[in-house]
Amino acid sequence: MMRHHVHPKDRGLSEAEGKALIDRLEETRSLSRGEWTDLIRGRTPALAEYLFGRARKIRVRHYGTEVYIRGLIEFTNYCRNDCYYCGIRKSNKNAVRYRLTRDQILSCCEKGYRLGFRTFVLQGGEDRWFTEDRMTGIISEIRRRFPDCAITLSIGELSRGSYRRFFEAGADRYLLRHETYDGVHYARLHPETLSASHRQKCLWDLKEIGYQVGTGFMVGSPYQTAENLADDMLFLKELNPQMVGIGPFIPHHDTPFAHMPAGTLELTLFMLGLIRLMLPKVLLPATTALGTIAEDGRERGILAGANVVMPNLSPTEVRENYLLYDNKLCTGDEAAESLKSLDQRFRAIGYHIAISRGDSLNQEIPD
Ligand code: SAH
Repeated sequence: MMRHHVHPKDRGLSEAEGKALIDRLEETRSLSRGEWTDLIRGRTPALAEYLFGRARKIRVRHYGTEVYIRGLIEFTNYCRNDCYYCGIRKSNKNAVRYRLTRDQILSCCEKGYRLGFRTFVLQGGEDRWFTEDRMTGIISEIRRRFPDCAITLSIGELSRGSYRRFFEAGADRYLLRHETYDGVHYARLHPETLSASHRQKCLWDLKEIGYQVGTGFMVGSPYQTAENLADDMLFLKELNPQMVGIGPFIPHHDTPFAHMPAGTLELTLFMLGLIRLMLPKVLLPATTALGTIAEDGRERGILAGANVVMPNLSPTEVRENYLLYDNKLCTGDEAAESLKSLDQRFRAIGYHIAISRGDSLNQEIPD
């Protein structure tokens, strides 16, 4: 692994220098590419604790001790793409494919509403069966039935025209992780048909249309360097999204990356803390992947500055088939039905679940 090679800064960044960088990040909300690289590569447990303390303070200042919830509806695992890391990639012949009907999606929302969810996230592979007309119909119906809820889409790269139609039909938010900013690194994770620049263009389109946008990346994805993560931070700064979803890369046994090492809890938490300092008001989920690599991953995420969780609202019979990576959580406290027990976990560390749309305070107006 990269970290075992000796880099000058491995020994070069003293604790005092690290703290000074964190202080300046908090104050100016930005660092240079070289500083990001040094801080990420030179991190230590002591520096991480220092960072998390700062991150929690900022998080509590803006969002109190509330944890926002989103009901995740994984409505199709058919996908025309072939991302090397993803378990529902087109070439995975062992994936058991499913798609929910319009009525099933609407029942998920009904159930979610009763449980207390006021945001529904429709996530899926890039499945052309859900044409623009079909999607628009589903979005309009959710909008009509749940006027007080936010509708979030996470269905990949589409034309600006489709994004616009969905927005006009009532979708408010869109999640599209940029995955990695660097074009060369991106090309090592995806087939030639996909590019970093096109994915980024989609994000700018979504923003321009008026969506509250979420982006993000995998931590510890194959071949990722500290420089790549530095570039990801600079991109986040430039895009200034309302939400940033990050989680560790976790291998899936039926993908080309089956034998690649997983990203670590430690680095993911450190990146969460850095993002909270750089974008104080951003929505920051403690993701399912984080809960998957460590039993207390979500709580640790909250304690590093996260303020959102996205429990699974999909019908129980399809949940295990939306397998992006091995052992992906979908039961226990990851299930939407277990909101009470999830809330108890958060109360044990001084936080609690809020029943609200949970809009981002990170709007365009600079403060
Ligand atoms: N098709 C949609 C939704 C993608 S799935 C889209 O293109 O946006 C949601 C996220 O899961 C992806 O953006 C990716 O960052 C993450 N993911 C996929 N495979 C993963 C893996 N093996 N480990 C960790 N995260 C993974």
